[in-house]
Amino acid sequence: MLLKDKVALITGGAGPNGLGFATARMMAEQGARIVILDLAQADPAGAAARLGPQHIGVVADVTDKASCELAARTVLETCGRIDVLVNNAGITQPRKTVDITGADYDAVLDVSLRGTLYMSQAVLPAMRAQKGGAIVCISSVSAQRGGGILGGPHYSAAKAGVLGLARAMAREYGNDNVRINCVTPGLIATDINKGLIPADRMVGILEQIPLNRIGGPDDVAGCVVFLASDLARYCTGVTLDVNGGMLI
Ligand code: NAD
Repeated sequence: MLLKDKVALITGGAGPNGLGFATARMMAEQGARIVILDLAQADPAGAAARLGPQHIGVVADVTDKASCELAARTVLETCGRIDVLVNNAGITQPRKTVDITGADYDAVLDVSLRGTLYMSQAVLPAMRAQKGGAIVCISSVSAQRGGGILGGPHYSAAKAGVLGLARAMAREYGNDNVRINCVTPGLIATDINKGLIPADRMVGILEQIPLNRIGGPDDVAGCVVFLASDLARYCTGVTLDVNGGMLI
């Protein structure tokens, strides 16, 4: 069991087909007590119940600092500690540069980048006090390739921002034994991109992926579990690519 008796909080973890829920399920299998945080309409309590009675759901909006602080307080009161935070909540918008409105920009950067900052701020004092913790931030291959198959340039910017934020936090909190790492998924079949890939583009997309398939949520979840676990105890500030070889 890689995460026995750990408390793991996963943002955006309620979607049954998403990376967050796959990560929650795999962490639960590895012995963690799971807290699924998501918007009310995503029903985080229902998602947690699907994992088992010891797991809990918390309604919060990661773009709202007070909401993040309340969620962290609730977890600490209920579970007594927070060992793992997975900053997974994110939204995408397929847009061309000239079509991105101020509202589009705010929406995308607020969830991925501001949300990662606010949730990290909310849990870091507890992790410092515990003298240990692991934060895994979900960025994207879009941050590295510049533009993605599905997200607009503002999505790439948000996810690139996550890489910089995570490395800076990793430098700041290493001395407290808090490790902060990123995963950069490639194209993974989830609700975020459902219906967005026209069938006639699929052959061209697969030609860019040496492993010759679209990823699944569990392909990413395994890498998140690794970075959250003691197997990765000497890794901080790392970016782990999970993209089937797209960047080779
Ligand atoms: P998803 O849509 O299934 O999951 C996103 C979750 O975030 C949802 O449950 C949603 O309710 C939640 N969320 C949105 N706004 C929120 C907010 N303000 N507060 C709290 N929760 C909020 O999509 P997914 O593909 O599982 O995406 C998970 C993460 O992986 C995202 O950050 C996404 O950008 C990233 N990612 C996905 C892919 C892919 O191909 N699927 C590739 C690279 C990166």
